[in-house]
Amino acid sequence: MRVVIVGAGILGSSVAYHLSLNRDVAITVIDEAHQGKATLAGAGIVCPCASKVTDPDFYRFYAAGGAYYRPLVSALKEKGETEFGYRQVGALVLADTDEQLQEIEARVLPRVANVPEAGEVRRVGAAEIKAMFPPLRDGLSALYIPGGARVEARGLAGAMMRAAQANGAQLHQGHANITAEGSRAIVKLDGKVIDADLVVVTAGAWVNQTLTNIGASIGVVPQRGQIVHLRVKEETIDWPVLLPQGSHYMLAFDDNRVVVGATRENGVGFDCRLTAGGQAEVLNFGLALAPGLADATHIETRVGIRPMAESVKPLIGHLSGFENILIGNGLGAGGLTMGPLAGKLLSQVALGQTPDLDLTPYAVRSL
Ligand code: FAD
Repeated sequence: MRVVIVGAGILGSSVAYHLSLNRDVAITVIDEAHQGKATLAGAGIVCPCASKVTDPDFYRFYAAGGAYYRPLVSALKEKGETEFGYRQVGALVLADTDEQLQEIEARVLPRVANVPEAGEVRRVGAAEIKAMFPPLRDGLSALYIPGGARVEARGLAGAMMRAAQANGAQLHQGHANITAEGSRAIVKLDGKVIDADLVVVTAGAWVNQTLTNIGASIGVVPQRGQIVHLRVKEETIDWPVLLPQGSHYMLAFDDNRVVVGATRENGVGFDCRLTAGGQAEVLNFGLALAPGLADATHIETRVGIRPMAESVKPLIGHLSGFENILIGNGLGAGGLTMGPLAGKLLSQVALGQTPDLDLTPYAVRSL
């Protein structure tokens, strides 16, 4: 079977990797690397049990995505791929008041009750919190989730793609032009047809533009995120992920780097500018929570465009009206957590196998 994958973010790279484990599949990946590619900007928090997701189907996918990291990381390690910053540093779900802490416990504790990988989830006080993440302000309390993790998404996508290429997958840079003859999709790169029995479209926020020539569209809209990277003097390798109330957060990586995120900007389309307001929003949040970062060096601000599904849930499955198009999309703000598993599930659908998770709630609706 010849499969063409359009888009190599975390999702397309995962599809390529999982399909490449089957030697009967010839894989071509085409990636345009748009400015704003979400996987290049994503923070890298993997801690679904702390999320405020309420839809049970969405949470099932989210949690399964987090749990899939362990087997994936060890499979990639066996292939010599270790450089993607994955580490279970733990997560602190922060509270200002006892009432907030109780709300957090009510949300998180039932989710981790039968999940040994979450570790011993417990309350921690101000002194312990400051010892774990020294720049923080005083007076915080938190629920500590030892199993919370972080990952360098661009590194992980690269590792999965390299593993796929080692198994024979071909990667091309450029724009995949999709047209149709009847109900069959045709993919062209630089004017040349790339033969395909199946086309897997993992084009992130650019999916509707990619499907426009065939008159299809799915309910996905772009959401801009601006995220700030800082360098500090302290050793940050073990610093936990910080999840305060609200949508902002903070985390650290091995190279004295602290990442503060992120804006969630709707209605700005594919405008990838760094804005004064976006920078201010993120930095004001960061310095209010962690005044000790005031002297940190600003390294860069990344901008990514999240693919937001109207249903809020991931979209995985066949595109109706076309016999050879599969879609993977709608990973929204949790795509680094769900992307590797979503790619595995999509590869199972591509191979005609029963997916590990019932995909009925995540069916793709063509508008
Ligand atoms: P993308 O990574 O955007 O990849 C799509 C690719 O398709 C692009 O390379 C694009 O160029 C290519 N493409 C599109 N059309 C074509 C075409 N016609 N031909 C060829 N190529 C094409 N998630 C978490 O779980 N945890 C986090 O901490 C987290 N933090 C985030 C912080 C920010 C600031 C942002 C923006 C996102 C964050 N996310 C996080 C979400 C996550 O990054 C995204 O959901 C995920 O990266 C989406 O992956 P994707 O592969 O669907 O899309």
